Amino acid sequence: MSQLQELYQEIVLEHTRRPRNFRRLEKPDYTAKGYNPFCGDNFILDLKIERGIITDVGFQGAGCAISTSSASMMTESMKGKTLEEAKGLFNAFHQMLTREPGTEADAEELGDLGVLSGVSEFPTRVKCATLAWHTMMAALKGERESVSTE
Ligand code: ZN
Repeated sequence: MSQLQELYQEIVLEHTRRPRNFRRLEKPDYTAKGYNPFCGDNFILDLKIERGIITDVGFQGAGCAISTSSASMMTESMKGKTLEEAKGLFNAFHQMLTREPGTEADAEELGDLGVLSGVSEFPTRVKCATLAWHTMMAALKGERESVSTE
């Protein structure tokens, strides 16, 4: 394994061991649930929004290393973003994971989230990595129904 891959794995493991924003919010403006039946990842996501800006994000639940670290990194990167920026970030992340095999990801604006770029080679794990993101988008639309990756 290359040093870069080792570093990437370190970041993923670190977020899995100590997920950021792993808590329910008090009086969230939006809440959504996400479930990935292929893996059993199960999250609930809370959002606070003030004047079109995401001021707080929290998630709880249980999932594999990929889904948990992706959710953790997502909550960190979403705080302080406008709804437009949040959508842009979702699109960039989604594009990175669903790009043509063998092509480079344009992950510059994604920061640490770029460590999940290699997940694109494993379609079943893409569902793990994007679960919290789809849940986030559902929450923003005010959809209270559970999101499923199926
Ligand atoms: Zn998973």
